[in-house]
Amino acid sequence: MSDPLHPGQTIGILGGGQLGRMLSMAAARLGLKVHIFEPGANPPAGETAHRLTTASYDDAEALAAFADSVDVVTYEFENVPAAALDLIEARVPIRPNRNALATSQDRLTEKTFLADIGLTTAPFATVSTEAELAQALATIGMPAILKTRRLGYDGKGQARINDRHDAPAALAAMNGADAILEGFVDFDREISVIAARGLDDTIACFEPGENIHKNGILDTTRVPAKISATTRERAFGIAGTILTALDYIGVIGVEMFVSGDELIINEFAPRVHNSGHWTEAGAVIDQFEQHIRAIAGWALVDPMRHSDVVMTNLIGDDLDQVPGITQETGARLHLYGKAEARPGRKMGHVTRVLGPATDRA
Ligand code: AMP
Repeated sequence: MSDPLHPGQTIGILGGGQLGRMLSMAAARLGLKVHIFEPGANPPAGETAHRLTTASYDDAEALAAFADSVDVVTYEFENVPAAALDLIEARVPIRPNRNALATSQDRLTEKTFLADIGLTTAPFATVSTEAELAQALATIGMPAILKTRRLGYDGKGQARINDRHDAPAALAAMNGADAILEGFVDFDREISVIAARGLDDTIACFEPGENIHKNGILDTTRVPAKISATTRERAFGIAGTILTALDYIGVIGVEMFVSGDELIINEFAPRVHNSGHWTEAGAVIDQFEQHIRAIAGWALVDPMRHSDVVMTNLIGDDLDQVPGITQETGARLHLYGKAEARPGRKMGHVTRVLGPATDRA
């Protein structure tokens, strides 16, 4: 195990969005500095970090200077080009590791990995052509969802196929990108487990949250989820299995479908996750501070939940609700400092505390 970081040392973060912003604030609370690397101008994290580099991921000189100025590198953005990571990794450790990132970047690799370690996913098949799609539909059945293997997020790059007449349009919607066909899971609810693994191999899981999506984007996370104690324990076990198999350091977000007694894994994100924002108001440590602690080589804090909460994303025009929210006494508001409220853009979130922690199951 490498030496823990000490206060005053610096964490490098690839990506300067709201997750980088919140990670920077958590690091500052612990006396650690953050240096953000982000190609876009005026990123949300620029306001909260100690230092900001604005450069492209193919600027080798800027990447080298960034890597040399920090003690460990993490990321809040998963699509960093491999060449940039090669350059950084030659100079400074990257946590979570490259393999975790690469596995999650491609839905086919991700689902194959999950199946290989004995976990359940929706049935899937790789699809690049019309003939492969027809074959996959015959095997998997309908309804099904066609998704691009890479670069999909918030329901983008996805097309539902209810009957064979939907197939040509679904394939066209992939724009020539390699895709994966997934069987449609008729789930009772969607949950996610935010979990962390430390440098000493310890694992700590936050209580599962129950997620509701609107137009493919997370709308609310409610904690506790309405699941049995057995399902909860199994969800923790699944998160732990993934973390150990990847030799993972840091926080991960694992999304699962609950269908009867079954837990079917949708995907995991190798970073702090939108469905973990509730931890700021509902648990003794939030996901951001836990991630910083993990990658700094500090002990993980027991992520005990003290309250029942519901987190609601503020997307686009939802920003109009802010004056009302500022007058609520039970609402923790978090805004990302983005100047322009475009449709579908995550502008902030509000976590409402419902009361002391109870059990909904
Ligand atoms: P994803 O981008 O894969 O996280 O998908 C976004 C949302 O689409 C999920 O949170 C689900 O609500 C829905 N979804 C994705 N895949 C499936 C599936 N195989 N079966 C049912 N719903 C799905």
